[in-house]
Amino acid sequence: MSRSEPSALPLLPDRDCGGCVECCRVIPLDLPELAKPTGELCAYCVEGAGCGVHAIRPQTCRTWFCLWRVIELSDDWRPDRSGIVVRPDGLETGEITLYVVRRTDFLTSMEVFGVVAGWIAQDVDVALSVPGPVGTYPARAVVTDWLRPAVEAGDRDDFNRRVAASLDRLEQHDWQADGITARYAVHIA
Ligand code: SF4
Ligand code: SF4
Repeated sequence: MSRSEPSALPLLPDRDCGGCVECCRVIPLDLPELAKPTGELCAYCVEGAGCGVHAIRPQTCRTWFCLWRVIELSDDWRPDRSGIVVRPDGLETGEITLYVVRRTDFLTSMEVFGVVAGWIAQDVDVALSVPGPVGTYPARAVVTDWLRPAVEAGDRDDFNRRVAASLDRLEQHDWQADGITARYAVHIA
């Protein structure tokens, strides 16, 4: 996806969304010109190519970026590869949310363990989130204190067990409908 500035957050130079379109699927929009439920791929999105209305896309689409575009994370963290959308909300208050849209091998990698351990060591609060059925809000929980013993022990297996247990529990969530009815009305004036 060829998103470009301006963003609400300063973007890393030389980093592009490439073929990723995860946010065009997972993020709900409820705008006059474009409404789409949580988890529905935007009808303007062309898989592997990006936004079909790029020049006239809504302001929200111009300013919303996942943190892979903002902070130094390896290429493996790109959401379509990693299955993890690192959400930007909460950053100002020292909180980072890993929105796990798919469980991948990467989720249990040394890379994820090391990065999350680093955040916790720096007193960043870490939350996990999972999507529900299309049209419902995601579930989310702060898991810093739950993960901390595994992090402090340097025990990646225990860390992975704790992450999996948190995700299992979140997936039992009583999903609430987002109440958004799809509306696609972005037009060239
Ligand atoms: S309008 Fe474009 S950038 Fe916005 S959600 Fe749809 S495809 Fe993505
Ligand atoms: S989830 Fe991140 S990398 Fe993927 S399209 Fe959205 S902003 Fe770009």
